[in-house]
Amino acid sequence: MMHFTSIAEAKRQTGLSYIGKVNSSAKMMHSQVESHQYTYILYLSPANTSGYNVCSHSTPECRLGCLATSGRAGMELVSGGDRIKNARIKKTRLFYEEPEFFMSWVIAEICLARAKAQKDGFFFSVRLNGTSDIDWQNVKINGQTIFEIFPVDDYITTLPEQTSEFGNKTFKIKVNRDIFINDLLAEKEKAKNQKKMVKLMQTCLIFGVPDGDRYSYYDFKRPLSALPLDKLQTRLNVLVMENCKKGVQVLNTNLKEIGLVVN
Ligand code: SF4
Repeated sequence: MMHFTSIAEAKRQTGLSYIGKVNSSAKMMHSQVESHQYTYILYLSPANTSGYNVCSHSTPECRLGCLATSGRAGMELVSGGDRIKNARIKKTRLFYEEPEFFMSWVIAEICLARAKAQKDGFFFSVRLNGTSDIDWQNVKINGQTIFEIFPVDDYITTLPEQTSEFGNKTFKIKVNRDIFINDLLAEKEKAKNQKKMVKLMQTCLIFGVPDGDRYSYYDFKRPLSALPLDKLQTRLNVLVMENCKKGVQVLNTNLKEIGLVVN
């Protein structure tokens, strides 16, 4: 029977580099960028390809199109390699033959990955069935399931605290995860739009209602700073007369820098 003492020792004993990993596939990298999340994921050898069946509900169709043969593992298989496939078989056998050792290693990796996510300010999630459909509620280590070892509340506490002003007081508030993600996405979108506007106003005079969602612009196709200032000022005066009605204003924030004034 194997005893887990440390990740380094487990690697030495088994010849494996890891059991699960954060952001180990293109899809997980996408998740990291889009939802600000690190995902620890575990890939076993699917169905009964290791001699142990980790997909009790698999069908001939799903086995045929299984994720296990896509991504890097798929590319390796096509090119005749079998390193990833063999490592997954070895991990699966380890899970069945040395479950305490295997799960202790998984728990140590999850703790490390979660600490890194907290340090980097990312959400953290765990996906143990990367290429398996094991019911982890029935897998116990020292009498506890993985869900008892890492209660869901643990994830919620990784959200940063926010403050809210009310009266003269400032309160600390807990943030709802969905709201936090939406805020992050909204900030990202805002930054993207600001970048676009800054680029646009280098060559354009832009008109619209401040904070509105529509605007029009006149593109001079050259940097405004490279145009004769007097002619540009005259053109601006005309455009202001034509456009600035019902709350519409010049939206360029670079007028002063160019030497233009709105009369
Ligand atoms: S990992 Fe999923 S898709 Fe692949 S064989 Fe198992 S159940 Fe089917």
